[in-house]
Amino acid sequence: MKIRNKWLSTKFLLLKSEQICNFRRFMRQFQQTAKYLFPIALILLATLAKYSFTGILGNRTPFLLYSGVVIGATWYSGWRIGLLTNFICLLLVVYLFLEPIGSFYIQPRLYVHLLIFTLQNVLVALMGYALQEALRKSRAAESKVKLLLEEACDLLVLRNENGKAIYVSPKVTEITGYTPEEYMELTFDRLVEPEHLEMFKEKIESVMAKPNERQTVKSLFRCKNGGLKWLEGDVYNYLERPGINAIVSHIKDVTSRIQLETQKDEFIGMASHELKTPITNIKGFTTLAKSAIRTNPEKAEALLGRSEVNIKRLGRLVNDLLDISKINTGRLSYEFQLFNLSSLIQEVVQSFILTYPGHTFTLETVPLAIINGDRFRLEQVITNLIDNAIKYSPESRSIVIKQELKEGKAIVSVQDFGIGISEEHLKHIFDRFYRVDASSMRFQGLGLGLFIASDILKNHKGNFWVESKQGEGSTFFFIVPLQGYSKELAVTDHATFYHNSSISIHYHSKENYLEVKWIGIQTKETVNESGLKILEFVRKTKATRVYNDNSEVIGNWSDTSDHGGKVWFPAMAEVGVSFFAWVMSKDRFSNMAAMRSYDMNKSNILIKLFDRQEEAVSWLLEQEVDV
Ligand code: ADP
Repeated sequence: MKIRNKWLSTKFLLLKSEQICNFRRFMRQFQQTAKYLFPIALILLATLAKYSFTGILGNRTPFLLYSGVVIGATWYSGWRIGLLTNFICLLLVVYLFLEPIGSFYIQPRLYVHLLIFTLQNVLVALMGYALQEALRKSRAAESKVKLLLEEACDLLVLRNENGKAIYVSPKVTEITGYTPEEYMELTFDRLVEPEHLEMFKEKIESVMAKPNERQTVKSLFRCKNGGLKWLEGDVYNYLERPGINAIVSHIKDVTSRIQLETQKDEFIGMASHELKTPITNIKGFTTLAKSAIRTNPEKAEALLGRSEVNIKRLGRLVNDLLDISKINTGRLSYEFQLFNLSSLIQEVVQSFILTYPGHTFTLETVPLAIINGDRFRLEQVITNLIDNAIKYSPESRSIVIKQELKEGKAIVSVQDFGIGISEEHLKHIFDRFYRVDASSMRFQGLGLGLFIASDILKNHKGNFWVESKQGEGSTFFFIVPLQGYSKELAVTDHATFYHNSSISIHYHSKENYLEVKWIGIQTKETVNESGLKILEFVRKTKATRVYNDNSEVIGNWSDTSDHGGKVWFPAMAEVGVSFFAWVMSKDRFSNMAAMRSYDMNKSNILIKLFDRQEEAVSWLLEQEVDV
């Protein structure tokens, strides 16, 4: 049986943690027993001492000695056992040391002594109880405050009057990668980036100079792995505050906030520029048209036409900005109705033919594609794709728009022969504000169109993807489901196989692995549904290995990829999957989504990616789970 190192070390760790647990259990039991043994030992010792020293001390009453026993028992074993010890001591004293010895008879003259002895011991036990309670409460409060400080705050650092760290909360490891001990040893020169160091030191020194002074310090810190993070700290001088006597820094990781702020600033700059350009153009063209209207009406008309194009562009920019804010607040509304997507595409292309007479638009559509959707919003998607195809093809004037029907879905593509997009930029292309660096300088735009289009398509249970080669052009695809197309019914025996239009699952009982084959176009819905089906079959079959074949997949969502990595893989691990052989798709965009799931995988499933199916199967069959 093959056992990998990882399993070996996991086994070793398990064994070690089991030993630790056993030792802890033993200690707990020992402490429990010692609670009873300790008072018994004390009673025996006291009795032995009393007998041994009677010769020297004379036959004095043993009250003092046994009071000591009760105090000891209360201190170690608690007030209840203290009271019990008191009772036993009382009996012992009466029986062993008071006349008549060897009997429980008490002479009346000793009543008061015995009463005082008993009462004083009860008082001791009660005091013990009160003390124990006070201690418990103070410990609980202390650990609560400590927990609150360590968990609720981001990072807490206390420094002495020389600036040396004397306490660093455990959160430091999460933020910087250093352990509190390592962090304490580091000087500011090692932590703070050189360009911020002087300002940082100045602020800290100004806080240290004055009691009760407070400053907010924000700077770039270098983490243990060499990465940079923006940390913001409120630093207080509490050196003279009794009970604290330290410089207290409460530090937050503000990296994502700073990134967002920078992005926002850049966006505002870009948006102002984008809005200003058409306004300047409109102003210029209208002034020129006004002066030419009498002398050269044709020229005036052409100028007004160009002005109109700019007005349209301005309108689109403002609408994009409004849509983005609506998407952010979840208020982008849709009016669904049945309509023919083919006629919509024809109408949009027709209007482009009129606006861009110098371009060639090739249109291949089917006559009828009835869908249930928001006509206006889908028009926005198609317009944006054709707009981009024109904009990002400065050297080419040919655009191909195609529409076909497949598996109950309408597939629309817009192809250009322009600048194309490199692989590294492809995966971000549908992100908000994303613009390819090299093109953002040359072409106007805000990086909002594709993000809005992706949101609209998601709301139509659709999908999108792109195929592109830098320098050769791009093809943007989107799909929307056709109305009235009933889904192919699943064929299944509910135990070893399942098959529908988007997935086939087959359990190989002899080799104990699950074969999963994804078929054709996938949408968020099919990915989620099929993911649940696979989980169900793993649970039923107890398969520990999964062969996952994506070779026939087209298109995928990036947010299903996140879900795949963060939620689905851990769920698969929970039902017992240990190995996952993943055959990649031929479609690059779909592979990027798969890679994202792979990168985000939070489970301990061993995932391996393959191009060839045979290699994936043979690797999977070599893997065996240590039982
Ligand atoms: P905008 O075009 O306003 O910048 P989009 O969201 O429509 O915003 O596009 C985002 C980015 O994707 C563009 O900035 C550009 O870099 C790239 N892009 C979009 N369509 C194409 C295309 N057809 N060819 C090349 N690059 C494209």
